[in-house]
Amino acid sequence: MTAPQATLGLAAMERLQALAGFSDEPDRLTRLYLSPSYVAASDRLRGWMEEAGMRTRVDAVGNVIGRYGDATGPALVLGSHFDTVRNAGWYDGNLGVIAAIAAVGFFHTKGDTFPFPIDVIAFGDEEGVRFPTTMTGSRALAGLVAPDDLDKRDGDGVSVREALASAGLDPDALATCVRAASDIAAYLEVHIEQGPVLERENRPLGIVTGIAGATRARVEVTGIAGHAGTVPMAMRHDALACAAEMILAVETVAHEKPKLVATVGVVDVRPKAANVIPGFAGFSLDVRSEKDVVREEGLAAIRAAFRAICERRHMGFHIDIAHSANAVQCDARLMDLCDEAVRRVGVAPRRLVSGAGHDAMIMARLAPVGMIFVRCRGGISHNPLESISPEDADFAVRALIEAVRAFRP
Ligand SMILES: [Zn+2]
Repeated sequence: MTAPQATLGLAAMERLQALAGFSDEPDRLTRLYLSPSYVAASDRLRGWMEEAGMRTRVDAVGNVIGRYGDATGPALVLGSHFDTVRNAGWYDGNLGVIAAIAAVGFFHTKGDTFPFPIDVIAFGDEEGVRFPTTMTGSRALAGLVAPDDLDKRDGDGVSVREALASAGLDPDALATCVRAASDIAAYLEVHIEQGPVLERENRPLGIVTGIAGATRARVEVTGIAGHAGTVPMAMRHDALACAAEMILAVETVAHEKPKLVATVGVVDVRPKAANVIPGFAGFSLDVRSEKDVVREEGLAAIRAAFRAICERRHMGFHIDIAHSANAVQCDARLMDLCDEAVRRVGVAPRRLVSGAGHDAMIMARLAPVGMIFVRCRGGISHNPLESISPEDADFAVRALIEAVRAFRP
């Protein structure tokens, strides 16, 4: 598992460092969708794509698209996103874009041609940080962005439509972004793992089997507020103590059910005073699984536990489901292709599920999708501490090269 000189990886790392310089803030990386630094980074990406022998364009929602080769027919699309969260790391999304350009650049240098066109797409708005939207770039390709979505506004009151116009794009040309399923043969995305599994097993790369489905809910528990000194313990209806028991039940259900993860990340309490028994507690609930049936069973078990706890404590509760997305499976043939590509660069293939969402889950509406994960230090992401090694970047680029070479539409 040694990379000879890691030259492709080192070159990719240099570009990732250069790309990190395109930021909305001076001392940290924040590249929000359609910001001035996003537009400047688009130009930089186009330049690199053109050096790699691609013809480039920016579509109406700000996706940067490069095409390699004169072949006609359905394209093999390689890509990821280049918008970031606030105070981001350098690799989330950007690695997949740079790796795709590096792979095509390698083919260009060798004079390699393919019987199918290769498109590299750098998507925007995967992170969904600036506007109350997410994955606008890939969703526009899949025809899932409605003109109304462009009226959504950021924290400064700027609409997506206005931001597109100030970026020099034409919001009325939204429909021109749409790609037909018959136009795309497959989609391959390289991405940092954003989790600790590959690092723990000392593996540079993994092959993604699917992207977990997710349910996001808000739970509210109603008790009775009262004086912390005068109400005897046996007569209390403490909403926070009840919520605490419910939160532990969430953890227990997820522990007991294989392939299920569940998280409570936000808790709020009212009236929120040290000398008042809480009369109300609300908390978030995030439940994910690669198997939709497991997620549904998990949710049912969580609801049953909530009911039992609240009945015993004589409390009321209700759950509002805010958002629900089914799991997306990666294509079996592309997983085999990626296994073989990874093996060819000297890495034993290891399959794993993605707990985080990616553009690939939207692209799955249009074409079979595959993803290769790259080990990241400590599994850390959405954080300036995000880190990968040049050797692992090299494995990633070379595996992508092998996958493209072995691909048949
Ligand atoms: Zn990402």
